[in-house]
Amino acid sequence: MSRKTARQKAMMRRNLFLTGCACVLILIGVLAGFAVKKLTEKPKPEKPAETTVSSDQSEQTAPVSGDDTPSYPAEGPNGLDANYRVLFLVNGKHPLPENYEYEKDLITIPQEYKNGQLDQINKDIWPYMKAMIDAAWADGVKLYVWSPYRSYAIQNMLFQKQVNRVKTADMTTEQAEELASTVVARPGTSEHHTGLAADFNMADDRFEQTEMFAWLQKHAADYGFIMRYAGDKQEITGVIHESWHYRFVGINTAKEINRLGMCLEEYLEHIGEMPADS
Ligand SMILES: [Zn+2]
Repeated sequence: MSRKTARQKAMMRRNLFLTGCACVLILIGVLAGFAVKKLTEKPKPEKPAETTVSSDQSEQTAPVSGDDTPSYPAEGPNGLDANYRVLFLVNGKHPLPENYEYEKDLITIPQEYKNGQLDQINKDIWPYMKAMIDAAWADGVKLYVWSPYRSYAIQNMLFQKQVNRVKTADMTTEQAEELASTVVARPGTSEHHTGLAADFNMADDRFEQTEMFAWLQKHAADYGFIMRYAGDKQEITGVIHESWHYRFVGINTAKEINRLGMCLEEYLEHIGEMPADS
């Protein structure tokens, strides 16, 4: 009897030991499974930031301006940063610095987005331009990039062509160049050289009659672009009315410039950021 009990006790101890082992193994298994699941689990997509920000926040992020500046959301279409702005001024009085390095900032525009030969644009503004063109297409409007970045050599060629076109026998070369410069920028004074501007579809007055122009009038600012040369601002910009030429400034800045009815030069004066004449 006592022998049996001893044996039974030994059996019980063995069973207890085996059960314990099994428990530990199961626990390890469960923990390992949990760890693997955690590691392989896809992170939940982050909810896009709400476009409705509190008035306090939006006041902080709105472009610099007077007291009457409305609040603008910090996020534009496709999650684009609406406060990102580029106010770099290039005009007849503000030529590009000779050492201006533009090529490092350029990328190639995909073939399907353009209808001209030239195909380079500033890499930081391309997401904005692409989103704009995609939105136009979604609305059935066939917007294409005609002429974006232009090298100094191309500008020079275009300018000389224009000088030859306007020069009459009684004109000096300087006079002809002056006249030509209202239509084609002198080399070094073109916004096209910065990669921040582009002509769409055609550099032609007929553009104003197209649905592309009508669409841009409504939506260009939503993507950070302004029609850079309005006819009634020629005195200030030094350039004739160009319905086809759009310049990136930034979403909220473009909205503000349009709201104020200003050209870029006037806006820079307005916010006290006009660079000195060079
Ligand atoms: Zn242009």
